[in-house]
Amino acid sequence: MSDPDQNRVTPEVSFGQFQQLISQMYLEKDLARGVDGTFMWFMEEVGELASALRSGTHEERLGEFADVIAWLTTMANVVGVDLAEAVSLKYGSGCPGCNQFQCTCADAEKP
Ligand SMILES: [Zn+2]
Repeated sequence: MSDPDQNRVTPEVSFGQFQQLISQMYLEKDLARGVDGTFMWFMEEVGELASALRSGTHEERLGEFADVIAWLTTMANVVGVDLAEAVSLKYGSGCPGCNQFQCTCADAEKP
């Protein structure tokens, strides 16, 4: 008999744990939908996050941040990207622009 809380995500969840959980819950549906349809859902959630940031409650913002991360993670699963690897490669050695752990890039630059 399986424990329904076995895979419960705690506040200390890692990218790897969360990506595995999203894969376990949704991968079959996500692969059937494909990257184009998944991207559309992701962008819809980004729009909902914009609304929550502009006029939502703290609880609404919590939900929308979670949704955006979940759909971003789904897209990573569909195309076989490991999120922990991605963030580690890009940001694990500091800012990709200036290579510092406290960014010293000019304010006009993107990072
Ligand atoms: Zn920088």
